[in-house]
Amino acid sequence: MITMEPASRPSHARPDVVQAVGRGLRCRCPACGEGRLFERFLKVAPSCSECGQAFHHHRADDFPPYLVMFIVGHIVGYGIYVAETRYENVPVLFHALTWPTLAVVLCLALLQPVKGAVIGLQYGNGMHGFDPSRPGRQEETDERRKPDDGRARREAADGVPDGAARTDLAKPETP
Ligand SMILES: [Zn+2]
Repeated sequence: MITMEPASRPSHARPDVVQAVGRGLRCRCPACGEGRLFERFLKVAPSCSECGQAFHHHRADDFPPYLVMFIVGHIVGYGIYVAETRYENVPVLFHALTWPTLAVVLCLALLQPVKGAVIGLQYGNGMHGFDPSRPGRQEETDERRKPDDGRARREAADGVPDGAARTDLAKPETP
């Protein structure tokens, strides 16, 4: 008799949020943990090369840089505080060279993993196009990404350019 032990489940079973965030933090696909999440430094791949999970509908937007600024601000701010309070006569040149360099290096080092973690968080919570129970969500997100397509279709339907149609609507009709 064959029994399905939890360990013998396929490795591509949907991971929980913590696992998905951890995979994103390592810049790997949150679904399988194997494929690369990024094409270039901050350019997310359209889909996973290993399992085919689509990434193009992620909505990380400004959240990764916000988190990075929050983290780096605390590290550098605390560093300046320690240097000024624990040590005497710290040369101005030390401050001028250390903190800006540290800030730039930390930002560049953290941006990619933090963005990966945010995408992993969205995947783990089934946000945006990552909800497997609502396949329609993916098309909705795709529509919002291409506003020009909708406009072109409306123009084709009524034969009036979109801008002209809006002007007509703004003008009150006189009897
Ligand atoms: Zn994958």
